[in-house]
Amino acid sequence: MTTAPAPLSPRLFDTRVIRSNRMTRTFVRVTLGAPSLRHFAPWGLDQRVKLILPHGGDRATTEDRSWRGRFSEEVDGISAPEWRAELARLPPADHHLARTYTTAAVRPGECEIDIDFFIHHPTGPASSWAASAAPGDRILVSGPDVRADDRRHGIQWRPAEPPTVVLLLGDETAIPAINGIVASLGTDTRGTVIVEADDVHACPPIENVPVGVTVRHVSRDRGRPGATLGAAIARWAASDAHEARVAGTGFAAWIAAESSAVSGLGTAVAESGIPRELIHRQGYWRVDGREASR
Ligand SMILES: Cc1cc2nc3c(=O)[nH]c(=O)nc-3n(C[C@H](O)[C@H](O)[C@H](O)COP(=O)(O)OP(=O)(O)OC[C@H]3O[C@@H](n4cnc5c(N)ncnc54)[C@H](O)[C@@H]3O)c2cc1C
Repeated sequence: MTTAPAPLSPRLFDTRVIRSNRMTRTFVRVTLGAPSLRHFAPWGLDQRVKLILPHGGDRATTEDRSWRGRFSEEVDGISAPEWRAELARLPPADHHLARTYTTAAVRPGECEIDIDFFIHHPTGPASSWAASAAPGDRILVSGPDVRADDRRHGIQWRPAEPPTVVLLLGDETAIPAINGIVASLGTDTRGTVIVEADDVHACPPIENVPVGVTVRHVSRDRGRPGATLGAAIARWAASDAHEARVAGTGFAAWIAAESSAVSGLGTAVAESGIPRELIHRQGYWRVDGREASR
């Protein structure tokens, strides 16, 4: 008797824009649909996906957006190694850019996912695509297939045990991931969420926050990305680090912000007496527009 091979994860979902909603002055929620999204894994948390943009997606006009090579045909279901090889095979003049995002919501029953885009200023290719996304626009999403049952790929929030105390730090680009993590916390979790933003009034809310978790927004105030998060960590170290130390392995810290800042932010948390293995940190974007860590 032969058994069907397990579906690979991650794999490509060939999606179309269903709708696009301006959430705030600086955020756009794009809802993507495809029949295959019924298999998209609904793990939530900080689940990352890779978006492959149309050729010309980095330009302001939508007219010259197109698909090259194998991507000009239906590519639903192809594996990550396959699409990466295809991207590498394309001549530079036909290149497609890829960017990393978080699933803000997954609705397998409706064959839909939501991605919340922070619109950088000036815009980069992905934020530019999102700002003008219209129903029917095609975008390719590399993400997890529920049938592979792999709850680790693309998920960095992996506390050793359900945390009793948390510290979640990020900027605008981390809000969808922070929301996914907060939604997973027990109702009696304590801790702190700090979000740095250019415009704190334009941030989508952090929702479903346990009563013992405080959410603070700090203004970047035209300063270097991550600088106000650093100042906020110093305040946290003075007032709340004791509770985190007492929690031992029941404490977990998660940091995502501009790439050149995250290492120093992690060190600042560690210097308050927190073991480094309890601190996850990841660069989410780069001020020079190059791809951040993956
Ligand atoms: C795991 C993970 C999950 C993420 N999830 C999300 C998410 O859910 N939502 C979200 O909004 N973001 C998310 N991000 C961040 C997102 O991938 C980045 O912000 C991405 O770089 C945006 O792509 P872009 O093409 O719009 O901008 P990019 O071209 O990458 O540019 C990024 C910024 O750099 C600026 N820039 C470009 N060139 C220069 C230059 N020469 N000098 C100075 N500045 C310059 C751009 O104007 C822009 O402000 C995530 C990142 C990671 C790693």
